Amino acid sequence: MIKAIYPGTFDPVTYGHIDIIERASRLVDELVVGVLINNKKSPMFTTEERVEMIKHVTADLPNVKVVSFDGLLVDFAKQEGARSIVRGLRSVTDFDYELQNVQTNRILNADVDTIFLTASLEYSYLSSSVVREVAAFGGDLTAFVPEYIKAKLIDRIKEMNK
Ligand code: ADP
Repeated sequence: MIKAIYPGTFDPVTYGHIDIIERASRLVDELVVGVLINNKKSPMFTTEERVEMIKHVTADLPNVKVVSFDGLLVDFAKQEGARSIVRGLRSVTDFDYELQNVQTNRILNADVDTIFLTASLEYSYLSSSVVREVAAFGGDLTAFVPEYIKAKLIDRIKEMNK
C-alpha cells in the first residue's frame, strides 16, 4: 500500500491546499494530512479546529485521513508507515525553503522521500496568510476558500474584534 503524508499548518486550509490534497490522493492509496501542532507561529485556529475544517472540506475523498502531529516530520511519517511526504511548490521561495527541509529529512531518515506537486496556476498566488489578511479587512473570500471555511473565518475575525 502506498501511503503519503501531506504536512502543513493549514491556518486555514485554502483552495490551494485542497487542490494538492485532491491531486496527491489520486497518486497514492492513502493520503494522511498532518496538521502541525507545535507551531512557532501563533495560529488563528486551534489544532482541533484546523483538523475539523480539513476533514469537512475533504469528506468526499475516501482515502484521505486528517490527523495532527507534533515533533519531527520524519518520525511522524515512520509512525504512520508512510515513505513519502507531499509538499506543494508555488514559487522559487517555496523551493529554497523546501530544498533545505528535504536534505535535512533525508539525512534524518533516508527511507522517506518527498514528492513535490507544483501549484495549479489559478492558486499559485494563494496562501493562508493572504487569506487571513483579506479576512481581517473584510474582503471577499469566495475565490480563496470554500463557504464552510469562509464562515469560520468571518466568525473568528468577529470574535477577535470584540
Ligand atoms: P507550512 O507552514 O508547512 O508551509 P502551509 O499550510 O502553509 O504549511 O502549507 C502546507 C503545504 O501546502 C506546503 O507544502 C505549501 O507549499 C503548500 N501550499 C500552500 N498553499 C498552496 C497553494 N496555493 N498551492 C499549492 N501548494 C500550496
